[in-house]
Amino acid sequence: MIIVKIGGSEGINYDLIADDLADLVKAKQPLIVVHGGSALTNKVAEQLGHPPQFVTSVSGYSSRRTDRRTLEIFEMVYCGQMNKGLVERLQRRGVNAIGLSGLDGRLWQGTRKDAIKIVENGKRRVLRDDYTGKVEQVNRSLLLGLLEMGLLPILTPPAVSYEGEAINVDGDRAAAATAAALQAEALIILSNVPGLLEKFPDEATLIRHIPAAKIDQFMSVAEDRMKKKVMGAQEALAQGIGRVVFADGRVAQPIQRALAGEGTVIGT
Ligand code: ADP
Repeated sequence: MIIVKIGGSEGINYDLIADDLADLVKAKQPLIVVHGGSALTNKVAEQLGHPPQFVTSVSGYSSRRTDRRTLEIFEMVYCGQMNKGLVERLQRRGVNAIGLSGLDGRLWQGTRKDAIKIVENGKRRVLRDDYTGKVEQVNRSLLLGLLEMGLLPILTPPAVSYEGEAINVDGDRAAAATAAALQAEALIILSNVPGLLEKFPDEATLIRHIPAAKIDQFMSVAEDRMKKKVMGAQEALAQGIGRVVFADGRVAQPIQRALAGEGTVIGT
């Protein structure tokens, strides 16, 4: 089993990714896809007059401020255009894909954070009306059932809280939790960079390999958004996934290239 996380940033080539996924499905490679949608969400939120806001937690991680209106826009883009866009691309290539959010069938469950401590203009503040959380439980039997039926699951945030509320969760970490629940051999994280760059944005400084035991040391290399990916990788490895690859989602055969060792390979 391989879990493929497709990013949501500008430049990712969804047609080339769908071509590669279709080839892998035809070669009988078991797969599950997880995707994001942040760039398009930002654009649509602007157009709808509810511009995106990002908050920084006291521990230094940045995340999308998700009030109720943001959650609605988030669902329109992630569960709507992004998810159905991928499902359609796969259906056009003869793959019977099925799109689901983490809410559907309680696929991804977690705790909604009732208070997030953020830093704003150097001051600490507590947010209480935010719909965010983290995936803690994966509905493994639902996924196995879909695979058994010959369907290719295309998964997207939001997840669901134990109280049944939609919660915005980080896609990379949700993909890591899914990989762990299915004991996947590999987690491939496709983005608009060739991998983890020693000196971002210089692509010539690509880090080719990180031994699992040394991943902590690389946390400082990653800036803002890349930090969550490194954290996701760390969580996946800690839960027994052999290999996590950060790879380029802008090129032809991005998944096969990642499996062949291109990008940043994290593992033994
Ligand atoms: P996606 O939406 O594709 O999941 P993100 O936009 O969340 O991806 O994260 C990838 C981004 O992280 C890159 O486009 C880049 O701007 C940023 N980044 C920060 N530090 C690094 C780094 N050291 N190496 C590579 N990318 C980095």
